[in-house]
Amino acid sequence: MQLVFASNNKNKIREIQQLLPENIQILSLTDIGCHEEIPETAETIEGNAILKANYVTDKYGYDCFADDTGLEVTALDGAPGVYSARYAGEPSDSNANMDKLLDALNEETNRSAQFKTVITLNLKGKQQLFTGIAKGVISSKKIGKEGFGYDPIFQPESYSETFADMSSELKNKISHRGKATRLLIAFLNSLK
Ligand code: IMP
Repeated sequence: MQLVFASNNKNKIREIQQLLPENIQILSLTDIGCHEEIPETAETIEGNAILKANYVTDKYGYDCFADDTGLEVTALDGAPGVYSARYAGEPSDSNANMDKLLDALNEETNRSAQFKTVITLNLKGKQQLFTGIAKGVISSKKIGKEGFGYDPIFQPESYSETFADMSSELKNKISHRGKATRLLIAFLNSLK
């Protein structure tokens, strides 16, 4: 079975291919000749994951899965959420995004937040969503050098370090994306 991952991130694609049974072959967007930027115009994380997966299935006719992630901050009513990548404007700049968030929470004592990843799978005419959540708090300053995005200011529940101060193995074990991906993999493995 061929399944498109609506991404061109080679690391993500290789990682997931290794975890799947041999009868499932993952194709990237480049592999299917999709070189255009897929619109991400929905107002929710779920909506964007659905848009991306449906774009590939409708336009190219492949079974497909797509992911979308956002950081939801309780004191900001869930912002930046679906706008996490461009919170401080475009082009996307992680440092500017973190500075804007730290400013917005300057006087705030409620620092709770969560990362949410939604993976939408279109398979044989059916659609299924897999959600992974990592709860935590926004730290008062940037700490750590690993990872990407908001990692230096996100301290996951039950840990004293930020995502950016953890090994990728530990982050992957407890992260939103790790959890959503494992749900997808368990589902695909159950089809064997
Ligand atoms: P995407 O949907 O995976 O492209 O994620 C959207 C935005 O959320 C990224 O540009 C990052 O700013 C942020 N983000 C997603 N995943 C993570 C993560 O694991 N750590 C920190 N920031 C993340």
